[in-house]
Amino acid sequence: MRPIYLDNNATTRVDAEVFQGMLPFFIDQFGNASSMHDIGAAAGKAIKTARRKLQALIGAKFDHEITFTSGGTESDNAAILSGLEVNPERTEIVTSPVEHPAVRTLCAHLEKTRCVKVHRIPVDHYGRLDFDAYRAALTHRVAIVSIMWANNETGTIFPVAKLAEMAKEVGALFHTDAVQAVGKLPIDLKSTAIDMLSLSGHKLHGPKGVGALYIRRGVPFHALIKGGRQERDRRAGTENTPGIVGLGKAAELALQYMDKENKRVKSLRDRLEKGLLERIPKSFVTGDPLARLPNTTNVAFDRVDGEAIQFLLNRHGIACSSGSACTSGSLVRSHVLRAMNIPHTAALGAVRFSFSRYNLEEEVDRVLEVTPEIVKKLRDSFPISAG
Ligand SMILES: *Cc1c(COP(=O)(O)O)cnc(C)c1O
Repeated sequence: MRPIYLDNNATTRVDAEVFQGMLPFFIDQFGNASSMHDIGAAAGKAIKTARRKLQALIGAKFDHEITFTSGGTESDNAAILSGLEVNPERTEIVTSPVEHPAVRTLCAHLEKTRCVKVHRIPVDHYGRLDFDAYRAALTHRVAIVSIMWANNETGTIFPVAKLAEMAKEVGALFHTDAVQAVGKLPIDLKSTAIDMLSLSGHKLHGPKGVGALYIRRGVPFHALIKGGRQERDRRAGTENTPGIVGLGKAAELALQYMDKENKRVKSLRDRLEKGLLERIPKSFVTGDPLARLPNTTNVAFDRVDGEAIQFLLNRHGIACSSGSACTSGSLVRSHVLRAMNIPHTAALGAVRFSFSRYNLEEEVDRVLEVTPEIVKKLRDSFPISAG
């Protein structure tokens, strides 16, 4: 049986059209975009086309606002480190406790190794940001705010346009990790006050190891990777031409599929969610019921080990991911569910299912067929108790 892949927030399958589009840039058009001959110029032209496609997907005003990087992690690091560097008189960062490790780990590192104060704005039970706390943290000491557009574990969407306007009032830069939002939500950056935005190819049916950082025109920027003069001095290193071409094609397709496919994906997600809640007692959905990615559901099954559910689903050929992890012998909640104050026994049983345009209705039916039994068996034999 074909495996059922419901872990698209971890990575996605490369679209066949993306793959085909990349192929010529390995063997025939292998040139270095910086070279002064025709073979190099072909690469340069392809990169320019890709930049335009990405510009269209995120509604950037100018194509040169897009800098290609090695992925979401590099974009996040480049944005935050630059934000501190261009504003040396400001030493504070405002962020959330539910960010991806790319932002979270960097902020913790900066807090430990430099004189940087990090404000982590609390979230409520639905994962929504505490606006009063956010407003209170915004002062003229803040160099940069970094808050994700959509959460990878729960799908909760943050009102980043509003948050960016508030940051602007105190002269702080606003960066958003939009890796999970790009391709899933309509984005029009030119109508917002967002200064920097990170995105990644492999989360939208593009290749791994390529991403981009949007840097609004006029925003000061210091490069993280120093060296040659590629990407208008914003990211040194010979361009990953096949990857960039793939990302461009993926952006074009994402825009093309946005309306129709997202509706279908959402209906599959809703069908799974409803079916699981009906069939499995003591289960609930985490995340913001009103502002959530159309492809994501994070279901907490009380008093059962989510990792064990994931393990057994995997045996049935179903790929998903769990909100708990076994670290040095004991089960720990994900940092996201912990920040949301989801009770221990429910958070440990959290399982994330994330869809893409490749998923089918019969796959949902199959998951609904096997999951209730798995949960029941685990609850009967290995119940997780409170405390
Ligand atoms: C996947 C992901 C990243 C990291 O992107 P990479 O391209 O894998 O480095 C960052 N932030 C979020 C929200 C993600 O989901």
